Amino acid sequence: MHKNRINILGTEFDNYTEKQFHKYLSDDMDGRSNKFIVTANPEMVLSAQKNPKFSKVVNSADYVIPDGIGIIKGAKTLGTPMHERITGFDTLMFLLQAANRKQLKVYLLGSKPEVIEASAKRIEREYPQLDLVGYHDGYFKDNQVIVDEIAEKKPNIVLVALGYPKQEFFINEYRKDIDAIWIGVGGSFDVFSGTKKRAPVILQKLGLEWTYRLFKEPTRIGRMLAIPKYMNLIRAEKKSQEK
Ligand code: UDP
Repeated sequence: MHKNRINILGTEFDNYTEKQFHKYLSDDMDGRSNKFIVTANPEMVLSAQKNPKFSKVVNSADYVIPDGIGIIKGAKTLGTPMHERITGFDTLMFLLQAANRKQLKVYLLGSKPEVIEASAKRIEREYPQLDLVGYHDGYFKDNQVIVDEIAEKKPNIVLVALGYPKQEFFINEYRKDIDAIWIGVGGSFDVFSGTKKRAPVILQKLGLEWTYRLFKEPTRIGRMLAIPKYMNLIRAEKKSQEK
């Protein structure tokens, strides 16, 4: 495993088409495998570069998926092009559909109480065959209480929305004893529950979803400056390769 990963500033991405990736996940669900999915964007790549512990956790995941046009652009610039962007949100939607089809057990962890409750309601409404075995918001004190509850419910899939790097550290620490597909989905439930809107499709297609998020939440400016910083580091890396 991991042989064909593409290294972007220290984070090693799997280079799959979305279709291939979905096939692997489908097989994992059928086999009840223990798998850890990271969907990483440029901000997370920079964060991993600065934080060796986070980098180690990300690179030890079973799947590291390029979430964001910045990763695809970076890969191309470095001369190691990747098939396509696969977003965390689309992966979440695929897992819910597959879980519904296969009648699997799902546990939701993270986001604000009203967000996770609204997400649970939507899942119960739109995925009636899926077995939603439990959910908890992301503002708890005692990890062990939560982990014991998850273990008891025996989910096939655990969707963790604690934001990075918290969600990846949590999954890495606790997944060993619970055979499920584990994925960090960041702010996806904020969108899924209808609390936050996703950018218009035209902006998504143009890779400009971030402009919409910035317009809606100007306080994200600090986080968004990560993108030009990331592109500069990619260009510097390219130059050092050419020497
Ligand atoms: N969150 C949480 N517990 C925490 C910190 C964050 O449940 O201790 C949730 C927060 O409510 C939000 C998500 O984690 O739903 C992170 O969202 P953000 O947009 O910051 O994440 P990104 O998608 O950029 O990783």
